[in-house]
Amino acid sequence: MAFPKKITVVDVEQVNHDSKKITFSLPGGESQVSGVPFGSAILTSHWPENGWFPVFRPYTPISAPDDRGTLQLLVKQYPNGRASSHLHSLTPGSTLTVRGPIPAYTWQRSTTPRELVLIAGGAGITPIYSMARGILSDPEDHTRIQMFWGVNGTRDIVLKNELERLEQQYPSRLQVTYCVSGPEGKPEAVDLGEPGRYKKGYISSEVLREAITRAKAGSWGDAKGTKVFICGPPAMQEAIAGKTGWLGGEYGVVKKEIHAF
Ligand SMILES: Cc1cc2nc3c(=O)[nH]c(=O)nc-3n(C[C@H](O)[C@H](O)[C@H](O)COP(=O)(O)OP(=O)(O)OC[C@H]3O[C@@H](n4cnc5c(N)ncnc54)[C@H](O)[C@@H]3O)c2cc1C
Repeated sequence: MAFPKKITVVDVEQVNHDSKKITFSLPGGESQVSGVPFGSAILTSHWPENGWFPVFRPYTPISAPDDRGTLQLLVKQYPNGRASSHLHSLTPGSTLTVRGPIPAYTWQRSTTPRELVLIAGGAGITPIYSMARGILSDPEDHTRIQMFWGVNGTRDIVLKNELERLEQQYPSRLQVTYCVSGPEGKPEAVDLGEPGRYKKGYISSEVLREAITRAKAGSWGDAKGTKVFICGPPAMQEAIAGKTGWLGGEYGVVKKEIHAF
């Protein structure tokens, strides 16, 4: 899709207390695809009322690049967030100006089995989900993914159905673990069930130990040597993949082996 373009809201779904899935139709209808490569974002823009400048923000579509006539965003609303509040105010028939795509990681398929670790925090799931679906949907790509998604509460697992569908479709290539850090994730809180799938607390080195052992036993990293993809709040990224993060300290993963969105 050549940008900038005006796309039109066709559906809005409130998926939890702070996030909406917003589905847009493309100006060219069914004959057009967004073509936004997986993991890449588009840039939205709007003029705030009485504002002097437009507000631009990147969002990663959760729809596939080749979905016909449609583009879908998952948007978390931040208190007083200028773009996210504007997007949350849209209703069917509203239009939005978008530009892009913003180039992100250029993925190279692997025809031999390789291991990847994908880590998301909160709303940072969108590029991670998009990468995973893109990699998995290529039948010639033999990459295996272990994904960890850190959320505050189980209500924040807003792409659960989509991820479960991918796990069912690609059981030998995708394994997802949800790490719940809020009140439900406290040791004294009731069991979250399915111990292999739900962990209490933050995404820690302990939580990743088994996954990294498995990755190391195979061929860890893509064709460019990237072993870990991460997207989340800055504090989380720093704790895990920053200069003094445990990924480097405990597991010896160096900066060039980590792609942070
Ligand atoms: C490549 C990329 C892709 C992205 N994709 C998505 C996506 O698919 N879905 C999505 O919901 N968001 C996504 N984001 C985040 C999005 O671009 C905006 O930053 C976010 O919606 C907040 O913008 P705002 O204008 O509403 O908030 P602002 O007006 O900029 O800020 C309002 C308040 O919210 C706080 N705030 C803003 N951002 C954050 C944050 N990330 N964490 C904690 N507090 C914050 C600010 O500190 C401030 O107090 C993406 C970001 C990047 C860089």
